[in-house]
Amino acid sequence: IIEIHGLDTRFGRHVVHQDLNLSVKKGEILTLVGGSGSGKTTLLRQMLGLEQPAKGEVRIFGRSRYNCNFALLRNIRNRTGVLFQQGALFSALTVFDNIALPLRELRTLNEQIIHDLVMIKLNMVAIEPEHAYKMPANLSGGMIKRVSLARALALDPELLFLDEPTAGLDPELSESFVRLILNMRKELDLTIVMVTHDVDTLVSLSDRIAVLADKKVIATGTLDQVCTHPHPFVESFFKSIRK
Ligand code: ATP
Repeated sequence: IIEIHGLDTRFGRHVVHQDLNLSVKKGEILTLVGGSGSGKTTLLRQMLGLEQPAKGEVRIFGRSRYNCNFALLRNIRNRTGVLFQQGALFSALTVFDNIALPLRELRTLNEQIIHDLVMIKLNMVAIEPEHAYKMPANLSGGMIKRVSLARALALDPELLFLDEPTAGLDPELSESFVRLILNMRKELDLTIVMVTHDVDTLVSLSDRIAVLADKKVIATGTLDQVCTHPHPFVESFFKSIRK
């Protein structure tokens, strides 16, 4: 569903990715790990069409980003959902309006249908309808995450990007959020690309892991395959589960 070949990303003279290769297969959960500043979020942004490659090829849904124009970006937005770090709900909008936003922006639907779709998504993430007209500031951290997931799923995406989905949640909330993501994946037939620093989240969710270091993907594979890689980042990141 995503193919990246020989990707270079630069911000001025700062090289973030150099000759990076990665593919994401339909239906899998692929987790990106790497040290702080290794370029994980920038790689998600490359996949979303929000950064320009200096070199190389990024293909998404079978189409090259080299032909990237407004229509392709709109097509990518229509078929992807994103859960940003910190949830990032619009604080001036109610729960309802946050979830309705992508529907109003990218679909031509009447308000009754939008209402029904928002309520279905709230139900999916186990938020009671009575919370629909609350402001984000009046929700708990766990609820904000679930509303953010409902918004990411509003357009019934094929591809979901999760940037640090369990950051800031205590272990219990984190575990229930992981269960929710697994349910959604089954129910909606999703492909998921995730970034996480949390080993428990990674172990519970990942089909495959890609390790970013030295400006490229240095290892990909199952947990067993990557966690014994000799790179110092891998040694320290997987310390708790390496034998
Ligand atoms: P973290 O785990 O800390 O979130 P990350 O692996 O997601 O880090 P990125 O946020 O992708 O890392 O950033 C990679 C590098 O690119 C960093 O050095 C960052 O300062 C730089 N960078 C990211 N976005 C920009 C930008 N728009 N302009 C200039 N430099 C940028």
